[in-house]
Amino acid sequence: MSPTQSSAADVVLEADHVTKHFEISGGLGRDTTIHAVEDATLQLRRGQIVALVGESGSGKTTLARLLAQFYPLTSGQIRLDGEPVRTKHEFADREYYSRVQLIFQDPFGALNPQKSVRHALERALKLHHTFNGREELEQRMLELMERVNLTPAADLIDAYPHQLSGGQRQRLVIARALAVDPEVLLADEPISMLDVSIRLDILNLLRRLRDEEDLAMLYITHDIASARYLANTVQVMYAGQTVEGGPVESVIQDPQHPYTKLLIDASPDPESALSAEGSGDLGEPPNLADPPAGCRFHLRCPFAMDICKTEFPKRSELGNGHWTHCWLHAERPQPTTES
Ligand code: SF4
Repeated sequence: MSPTQSSAADVVLEADHVTKHFEISGGLGRDTTIHAVEDATLQLRRGQIVALVGESGSGKTTLARLLAQFYPLTSGQIRLDGEPVRTKHEFADREYYSRVQLIFQDPFGALNPQKSVRHALERALKLHHTFNGREELEQRMLELMERVNLTPAADLIDAYPHQLSGGQRQRLVIARALAVDPEVLLADEPISMLDVSIRLDILNLLRRLRDEEDLAMLYITHDIASARYLANTVQVMYAGQTVEGGPVESVIQDPQHPYTKLLIDASPDPESALSAEGSGDLGEPPNLADPPAGCRFHLRCPFAMDICKTEFPKRSELGNGHWTHCWLHAERPQPTTES
């Protein structure tokens, strides 16, 4: 089903005009506010993958962690199945995590090096399910391992993280996330720390989970090619603002926001291509402790106009679900004429 055919009923998890500012105490009364995410809206649908792309520091990971209820929101709302999520504490409760799971970038860091595969899976399964005895639990662990191709399961179940390859460790992290039977997976750069030779295997696993198990998924990456391979829709972030989104082929083949064009031109290595050395006079992304007003890309944008420096443009619909926030596509206010 294309994104334009999806109905509101398909939406499992959504961020609605979400903003996150971090207050950092610098001592001597010199507090700083980091404007990490500004007015971001994003919807995750059953059986679909949204790729969230942008450079480091663009707010992608913060937005995923807001969806995972790691931090309280500054403003906006997170909804699960249309219901506002209200957590009393900084971390959400067990019920939330039985439906929404986050996969981290570094599989080794996400696992306890002292604990075996069996321990990692058993703990996750027992936290969220009950079993009729040891045999049923054991069977469930082996099934989980097979589901993510962590095989031969019977041989690997007593292995420790250091005895697994990088790809096997990430499969274990994914199996542990699946242990709770979630409806949503938030995958934060799940292949960026893996050997190039096994990245495709993990992408294919995520694709299979989407297609066969109808999972809703957020895939965070700075790699346009993997976003194109995996995702149904893509959303581009720059300096905490979402600037463009829509069906993946439409956005990547016909980008309309100057930053998206730059990001695609800089592919496959936007991090180095967009650095000060790689991009000549384009410079660095803005400091989020003191971001520029208006469109935060205006300091790097070759098309910047006066209005870009003061007002962030509303979302412009470009057709077939493709949209952007850019004054090149938005109706500009008419100058007032004095009589
Ligand atoms: Fe460039 Fe203005 Fe569009 Fe921002 S809003 S991308 S500065 S033209």
